[in-house]
Amino acid sequence: MIARIEEWLEAPLVVVGAGAAGLSAALASRGAMVLADTAPGEGGSSPLAQGGMAATVAADDSTADHVADTMNAGAGLVEAEVAAAVCGAGAETVAWLAAQGVHFDRAGDGSLHLHREAAHGRARIVHARDHTGQEIVRALAAAVAAREDIDLWVGVEVVALHMDGGRVAGVIARRADGGHIGITAPAVLVATGGYAHLWARTTAPAQAVGGGLALAMRAGATVADLEMVQFHPTALDVGGDPRPLLTEALRGAGGLLVDGEGTRFMVGRHPDAELAPRDVVARGVYAQLQSGARAALDLRHLGDHLAAEFPGVVATARAHGLDACRDPLPVTSVAHYCMGGVAAGPDGATTVPGLWVAGEVASTGLHGANRLASNSLLEAVVMGRRAAAAIDATRGVSATAPTRPSQVDAPACVRPADLAEIRTVLWNHVGVVRDGAGLRLAGHRLGAIAARYPGAPPNEVLVARQVVRFALARPESRGAHFRSDHPEPDAVWARRRVEVVR
Ligand SMILES: Cc1cc2nc3c(=O)[nH]c(=O)nc-3n(C[C@H](O)[C@H](O)[C@H](O)COP(=O)(O)OP(=O)(O)OC[C@H]3O[C@@H](n4cnc5c(N)ncnc54)[C@H](O)[C@@H]3O)c2cc1C
Repeated sequence: MIARIEEWLEAPLVVVGAGAAGLSAALASRGAMVLADTAPGEGGSSPLAQGGMAATVAADDSTADHVADTMNAGAGLVEAEVAAAVCGAGAETVAWLAAQGVHFDRAGDGSLHLHREAAHGRARIVHARDHTGQEIVRALAAAVAAREDIDLWVGVEVVALHMDGGRVAGVIARRADGGHIGITAPAVLVATGGYAHLWARTTAPAQAVGGGLALAMRAGATVADLEMVQFHPTALDVGGDPRPLLTEALRGAGGLLVDGEGTRFMVGRHPDAELAPRDVVARGVYAQLQSGARAALDLRHLGDHLAAEFPGVVATARAHGLDACRDPLPVTSVAHYCMGGVAAGPDGATTVPGLWVAGEVASTGLHGANRLASNSLLEAVVMGRRAAAAIDATRGVSATAPTRPSQVDAPACVRPADLAEIRTVLWNHVGVVRDGAGLRLAGHRLGAIAARYPGAPPNEVLVARQVVRFALARPESRGAHFRSDHPEPDAVWARRRVEVVR
């Protein structure tokens, strides 16, 4: 689709996305233009994060223990040095966020109040009640608004990266009125979140359809582990798009997964039962529902603690006619988080000069095949700040004036019916449990959708097809990627899959 570029602007740095990663990056920069299709707090996954952020702040906790838990959950694909770098920054990141105005919950003595979540060896999650993401975005957005050298522009969708001489030299964005503008910049930091909304059942918001991943793919960036999509075991099973989440901290606080008779069905499936790694619990809930049985989260025994610590959960249940203090809450496993994305080092550099990534769009190797709960907000803030600092260190490298073409060949927008079909295909055939036959069928159906578009396929089609390709290319089960036709891990595949795709 050829679109005319109406005007060109210039920025010292373009940040795409105003979630935890994009806002942190902007604040750590020496001036930036932040472009986002929704206002901070109104789109993206960050404001939906309930549980909190993992950080080793307790005196008897250690980076080594946090790294060990991260590596255990990641099922052999975590890059140890990345885990050490991100986990090692936990306490400093909490302090930085507090300095930006984030109010974390504290105990009577002023120390940080910590929750426990699955697969963490101890309580390690700093939080603001059960609306931590909202609180982080609120404070970061206020700090951004107070900075004169940061220009936040909402209601614009970045549709292409501007390439010049083999490097990224800016972006092309579509305004709300449909007109296109170009912005040149020596560096572009993409922080657009993940692609979990491409599944019909998900906790992820409508913006999480892989727009930034597609931008990077089209620019020739290396991507990694696209088949690794985490399913959350406890979305409230009341319909809705996205589905309401019941944070894992509820199980950390003692919540139990029960069947229709009140029997705990995770006991016997894993020694840690409800606190087993997330992929194990997600498959347990999925198997329960597939067998026609009930799956519910029983919180009744938490008593007063429930309303005091998790007011948002209690309110969400009530909004659906459920009383969390009296009824076990029906749950289902749904797509939630993308470990795969644009391959990046811990400072966010990609394989394309001028292009940087941070947050869920990136695949740094921190999460491996299965993200440890609450490591993603930490990664988003740490990487956003590191990327900004690394970009700062490269200033002046590309001194030549970039070109300013008068038109751009932007990919088509996906038709709503096609998006609905993509989401159904991924849910049915690339879900909690996959197999070769289903994946091939998915590939076939997505190919038919792509054929409906004469030019470059929409981002959603491009990303979905690559997810299927990656899933087919891993004939084993590892972490979140479970194939019923290859149900065991295979040492041959105990490595990340990294590729350039277009
Ligand atoms: C329901 C839910 C609960 C979660 N709970 C937790 C938790 O407790 N702890 C934890 O660590 N993690 C949690 N996660 C994961 C975590 O929230 C995300 O991984 C993290 O917030 C991602 O931050 P981000 O800045 O990378 O992306 P996002 O917060 O998703 O922000 C992306 C931004 O990019 C914008 N955007 C996207 N495409 C474009 C485009 N083409 N042009 C312009 N703008 C664009 C969006 O509007 C948005 O502003 C949760 C996720 C969900 C869905």
